[in-house]
Amino acid sequence: MTARVDAAPADADEPAPSPRTQRLVADVVVTMDPTCRVLRPGALEVVGDRISWVGARDDAPWRVPTAGRAGEQVVGGLLMPGLVNTHGHSAMTLMRGAGDGLSLDRWLRESIWPREARLTPDDVWWGMALGSAELLRAGVTTTCEQYLHAGVVADAALDAHIRCILTPGVFDLPGGGGQATWQRCLDDAGTLHADAHGRGGLLSIGIGPHSAYALPEEGLAAVARIAGELDALVHIHLAETKAEGEVIEGRYGCSAPALLERVGMLDGQVLAAHSVWLSDADLDLLTSHDVAVAHCPQSNGKLGSGVARVAEMCARGLRVGIGTDGPASNDNLDLWEELRLAPLLARATAADAGALRTLDALSLATRGGAGALGVEAGCLVPGSLADLVRVDLDDPAFVPGLSDADLLSHLVWAASSRLVTDVWVGGRRVVEGGVCRTVDEPRARREVVERARRLAGP
Ligand SMILES: [Zn+2]
Repeated sequence: MTARVDAAPADADEPAPSPRTQRLVADVVVTMDPTCRVLRPGALEVVGDRISWVGARDDAPWRVPTAGRAGEQVVGGLLMPGLVNTHGHSAMTLMRGAGDGLSLDRWLRESIWPREARLTPDDVWWGMALGSAELLRAGVTTTCEQYLHAGVVADAALDAHIRCILTPGVFDLPGGGGQATWQRCLDDAGTLHADAHGRGGLLSIGIGPHSAYALPEEGLAAVARIAGELDALVHIHLAETKAEGEVIEGRYGCSAPALLERVGMLDGQVLAAHSVWLSDADLDLLTSHDVAVAHCPQSNGKLGSGVARVAEMCARGLRVGIGTDGPASNDNLDLWEELRLAPLLARATAADAGALRTLDALSLATRGGAGALGVEAGCLVPGSLADLVRVDLDDPAFVPGLSDADLLSHLVWAASSRLVTDVWVGGRRVVEGGVCRTVDEPRARREVVERARRLAGP
């Protein structure tokens, strides 16, 4: 359904806002600020790419006593912060569904790495273009990505106008010959940081060492050193499977988190994806070093990896967000599914309906995720980036919705991405009436089909 956009006539007594100013009015505004204010009806003003004012419509500073409010767009529905995906390899739309039923180790060796050895930059551009459209249409406005051909991922993300924390993959690619050694990958990450960090006001460049097992110890130490010099985020798969822990224990005589501490990596900004198989001592390490966690419940379930102790992590004050992981292990980029699965698994495994509260789940997908990535988004407050989503309220999912608490509960337990109609990133409307305006999606689908056929090999 298309958002209702009624531009009110400007009042003669009030000057028209500048072209960089947008004033949006909705039936409900869910701010996700620290007090989780819900405004019914609510309004917000955007100047350039930032929010300048949020409040009840009747309190809007541009209100005038006579009819008509300058430059307002009445969008109706519910406005909330755009969702934040803290762990993805979205260009893997090229490999969606590959290797179903295999454990992580076999899935990588038999299904994914052979395809990745055949990838061209053009493949990655189209894979990321389609992935970006899928994310945006689901209301995801920020995504943290780790993938090969990172410069091309950056181009595709910027063309789609999605906010991207891009952490170029660093590891020795099996089957990649001399094309992808950890040293070469790390050099490329440094070059991309110099060239592209901050580009378009949308792109941040970090470093993505694949995992503690895919690089030698000297490689992990080098990543830690370079990331420190660049003040860059390190984004790493950590303790994803039980087998990974056994490999690291056998190789180094310690856990993966202890190894990362030993090489100095935990002294910088670290985002640990998965973090399923952590001992209490490992959790202590992550907590004491303020390591952020990307919780990926659906990928962990599909690959049979396990269930992370996310409620305990939140209780310890760890910065936690949720992630889709790649579309080859999920198999979609719909963060609404993670938003619901996270509390479902936490409650089911703890046999406790209070294990992860409804508002905490909503926070993981918005404010919490933004905090994990260090992005000034995830809540609708003045000064925050104008990344927001309109959700259609004309649906049984929002009935009865008697109270503010009901509405928030319906968002988590009854709504879904199908109700996202419009999406703004940095104040620019990139999805309108459910259609992504920044990606030629029909062509992207065709391109990905053709390329996926070649990547699958003989
Ligand atoms: Zn991953």
